[in-house]
Amino acid sequence: MVDIVDQATRSRMMSGIRSKDTKPERDLREALELMGYDLTLHEGALPGRPDIVLAHEKAAILVHGCFWHRHPGCRFTTSPATRAEYWKEKFDTNVTRDSRNLDALHELGWRTAIVWECALRRAGSAGKAALEVANWLSRSDEQHVDIGDLPAPAIALSPALDA
Ligand SMILES: [Zn+2]
Repeated sequence: MVDIVDQATRSRMMSGIRSKDTKPERDLREALELMGYDLTLHEGALPGRPDIVLAHEKAAILVHGCFWHRHPGCRFTTSPATRAEYWKEKFDTNVTRDSRNLDALHELGWRTAIVWECALRRAGSAGKAALEVANWLSRSDEQHVDIGDLPAPAIALSPALDA
């Protein structure tokens, strides 16, 4: 029995899939509950086992680590300097799997939100992320949303600053 658990834990670590119910995820869940949402945890029957499920809204929330799931444009999406091929393959597998899971959820009629962990790092940021989720839920025409803490786009700068 011990061997099985150890092996499962090891393979989970190797595959880069974190154990469930991490702190950022808990914070987000609590913030959503405070806002009055009725949550279902770890809906195993759904593709990708979404971290938080709002069955009423038919919305699935996935809390993704920026490094493992390759949050585009994020400062935490770094690439290890050694064994580049190995890491690229691992990252590609994760990204492909994530995209397949989103497609499958959409096909089943679910809306999806990815809350990137960078959006949950700062104290009190879970409330802000929960608010963004709520705003997205109210925009019923939007099937998917990404919520992350990215730098403002460079195009916001005035061209005069370059002169
Ligand atoms: Zn990020």
